[in-house]
Amino acid sequence: MATREEKFWQRYKEEKAAQQMRKQAPKPPKTGRVRRKDWLLADVADLDLYDELDLPERERVMPRGEQERRRANLATTAVQPAPADHRAATPGAAAESSIESENSVGKRQRGIVVEVSAGLCRVNLGERMALCTVRSTLKAADTGYTNVVAVGDEVMVSVNGAKQGIVEKVLPRRSALARPDVFYGHLQQVIAANVDQLLIVASWREPAIWPELIDRYLIGAERNRLTPIICINKIDLADDPRAPEKKLTPYTTLGVRVLFTSAQTRVGLDALREVLHGKTSALAGLSGVGKSSLLSAVEPGLNLRTADVSDRRHEGRHTTAQVTLHPLSTGGFVVDTPGIREFGLSGLRQSELVRFYAEIAAQATRCRFADCSHTREPGCAVKLAVRQGRISEMRYQSYRKIYRDLEA
Ligand code: GDP
Ligand code: ZN
Repeated sequence: MATREEKFWQRYKEEKAAQQMRKQAPKPPKTGRVRRKDWLLADVADLDLYDELDLPERERVMPRGEQERRRANLATTAVQPAPADHRAATPGAAAESSIESENSVGKRQRGIVVEVSAGLCRVNLGERMALCTVRSTLKAADTGYTNVVAVGDEVMVSVNGAKQGIVEKVLPRRSALARPDVFYGHLQQVIAANVDQLLIVASWREPAIWPELIDRYLIGAERNRLTPIICINKIDLADDPRAPEKKLTPYTTLGVRVLFTSAQTRVGLDALREVLHGKTSALAGLSGVGKSSLLSAVEPGLNLRTADVSDRRHEGRHTTAQVTLHPLSTGGFVVDTPGIREFGLSGLRQSELVRFYAEIAAQATRCRFADCSHTREPGCAVKLAVRQGRISEMRYQSYRKIYRDLEA
């Protein structure tokens, strides 16, 4: 078991070796740079030049406080003197970099994890899929999360067969859809990594729109750095065709993109397709709102329902086993995750809630009390604004309900 210090030097050496390699390697042409979205099409040889250090400032996403903790650790570790011969101390690192530089069979390839199950994961390598184990030296603790790899992770794989490999490295995550770990409540478990946006699906009727749930997802999206998009489905069930748009005005006013669709009459599907294009989207919403119907309408052949069935099989096991990344033919992925319900509000305090209600926060400065909760105090400018119709009643009521559920 490597100590923290050994790990630090191992990492240091790897970075140095990689830097050296980059100096020696011919610079890839500017246009040939592997951008995230087109890596599937990129030449695999190009991918070998890829290194996370080359990326423009990309912040590694970690749970709250983890960044600070590691910075402190690194600072204390960095002042330690170097071992006299650190080359001998970690022969693996040198060997690994030579594997990467030689164009040998064991070379590393970049891929994206599309499924994780019981210590194995399926990695999309662009031209094929590989079933991979995870290098045992990769520790979840290094990421601050309880799981090492998650669906959506970009990884470096050493391929040891046409369809098999080992995940050697997980590249820094741009975002992470996380929830508190079931067994270690103070730690986060990544449900899916590198998700760009959250598609919040609700239906006009059957079941009716539930604003509080929409708001919970909006808060979750913001806290997880995902762009929220609201999709109101089953608009064919609206007696007044203008009613859905009217009801969603508080959200459009806030600048949230809202789509109105019907999987049945195929209204709004082009807009939905456009929104999903080239992005990794996670779907959220009550069951029965039409998520599967919508997805199979925009992407024939894509069937979320199969995943639903296996969710049930795993019920109570609290695993992320059945989270799957579905590729879209137009580019992009859809993450279908059973764990989405729990994501959102964990650790949020009552006093922080108003931050996620921009229209309420805008009025709050005029309340009589500086620490007004806008629920029961006299002289509350928010309540006045609600009465005067400047803040939507629907949003205010959901604020109150969520406020009640949070810890003081
Ligand atoms: P999911 O649980 O969110 O995946 O929802 P489903 O796609 O399974 O849909 C639930 C039910 O709603 C099914 O009976 C669908 O046929 C129906 N449904 C889905 N989309 C629409 C729609 O746009 N209009 C109407 N009227 N029914 C729909
Ligand atoms: Zn107030």
